[in-house]
Amino acid sequence: MIAAALQPRVPDGAGTRSGEGAHSILGHLSTAGVDVTHGPILYLEGVTVSFDGFKALNNLSLAVDDGELRCIIGPNGAGKTTMMDCITGKTRPDAGTVFFGSTIDLVRMTESEIANIGIGRKFQRPTVFETLSVFENMELALKTRKGPLASVRAKLNSEQLDRIEQTLVQVNLRDAVWRLAGILSHGQKQWLEIGMLLVQEPRLILLDEPVAGMTDAETDRTADLCLSLEGSHSLVVVEHDMEFVSKIARKVTVLHEGSVLAEGSMDRVRNDPQVIEVYLGR
Ligand code: ADP
Ligand code: MG
Repeated sequence: MIAAALQPRVPDGAGTRSGEGAHSILGHLSTAGVDVTHGPILYLEGVTVSFDGFKALNNLSLAVDDGELRCIIGPNGAGKTTMMDCITGKTRPDAGTVFFGSTIDLVRMTESEIANIGIGRKFQRPTVFETLSVFENMELALKTRKGPLASVRAKLNSEQLDRIEQTLVQVNLRDAVWRLAGILSHGQKQWLEIGMLLVQEPRLILLDEPVAGMTDAETDRTADLCLSLEGSHSLVVVEHDMEFVSKIARKVTVLHEGSVLAEGSMDRVRNDPQVIEVYLGR
């Protein structure tokens, strides 16, 4: 058991209950309350985002089912990152709706509220704390989940330590638990950041170009990781690496000029004449 092994390295703290008050404020938005009985877990309809008159998203509509692994591909500038910005509250759409489950209107919520209801996002560049160990990064992520008022000094309980261990096994970093994040390979940093998302137990995970800069071996393991999350999580993966996408593809959505150009199986979109013209054929 890692729980016993990890415990002595964790600084002593004031107890584990300090964050509960902050957490319960958001209790009514808890992830368990995401209602997917009447539809998809993520639903965008007619979303438009303009930057000085240029439509980065143009009447975009998209639905992702609970437990689905969805790949999003498309040329540079198609609006993939802007779409994620709209889901996570970083950008407000000029028009359209974005729903998490059938009742939660994400357009009305702040970025931190959206993170707290169980939508986790990994940006393109890894943003781990380089001067902290892998374990400390995971610990911080776990405590952040409880809200900004949770005590960073509170001791982790054995259930939390187990969750950190299980997650590190999942992201291939169990053996690197005491290593400083700064000396990990680029791929391992990406995995650590995915681990930091997973330990927060999100319902929906958004990954923006997760395998960019990874070695072939790291890319393969990331594909396995994505496949292992299917079912227990809903996953939206934006990626340019078509070999990687082919490995994990279920339903694939092709974005172009801010709206959906094609959607379906990898074979179907690969053979779509429009997709070949604007994206794959080049
Ligand atoms: P992708 O991720 O598919 O490559 P983006 O969503 O990053 O595309 O960008 C879509 C388009 O919107 C691009 O033409 C980009 O230049 C533009 N864009 C994105 N963010 C901004 C912004 N903050 N201000 C102005 N233009 C932007
Ligand atoms: Mg992008």
